[in-house]
Amino acid sequence: MISIAIDGPAGAGKSTIAKELSKKLLYIYVDTGALYRAIGLYMIDNNINNDKSAVSSLKNIKVNLEFIDKEQKVFLCGKDVSSKIRTPEVSMMASKVSAIPEVRSFLFDLQQNMAKQNNVIMDGRDIGTVVLPDANVKIFLTASLEKRAQRRYKDLLEKGIKCQYEEVLRDIIKRDEDDSNRKIAPLKPADDAIIIDTTEYSLKESIDLVLNTIKNNLR
Ligand code: C5P
Repeated sequence: MISIAIDGPAGAGKSTIAKELSKKLLYIYVDTGALYRAIGLYMIDNNINNDKSAVSSLKNIKVNLEFIDKEQKVFLCGKDVSSKIRTPEVSMMASKVSAIPEVRSFLFDLQQNMAKQNNVIMDGRDIGTVVLPDANVKIFLTASLEKRAQRRYKDLLEKGIKCQYEEVLRDIIKRDEDDSNRKIAPLKPADDAIIIDTTEYSLKESIDLVLNTIKNNLR
């Protein structure tokens, strides 16, 4: 099986680019952030606000991915929560729970199994470093803070989610800082990752650049 790992900070364009490339390459696109978001949503819906309760609630949680018309859908305890997990509140909670080691190991097998059974393009924070250390190509996608905040702000508005630009910027700063500084599986490029900065590129240019990088480095 072939696996492509795409890691990087919030709003770098990972999911938009990976989704497009999955269509071109005919691989399955796995958005691992959606798994952490589903756990975050569970904690919000059940008013769980400390790590100990979060860990003990894991036994009641079932998260799974389904692919409907090749599009990833995330199910939390049997319910499709694919749209509900996209709010800024869930983003922040996902980041919070993602620092809990038990949450990471809870989601680990699910991610690895996807790559054992399918050719995948998988995006997240620790795919190249922890989940798929033997991925065929590893890319670390980044862009300037302002550009990432602008893109995320536009995405949220397009999804009909009301927000302020300043709030999006603040959340991205906090999430990147927490994701980069956590003890377990922090956000960082794998030693063998190719770093691509998309600040100056349009979406189409970024897609072409990442696609060519994958093609030139597929081993
Ligand atoms: O990628 P996305 O913004 O949807 O991820 C939400 C949060 O989930 C991230 O801020 C990060 O804390 C966590 N995450 C992670 N490891 C991954 C994917 C996401 O810790 N592989």
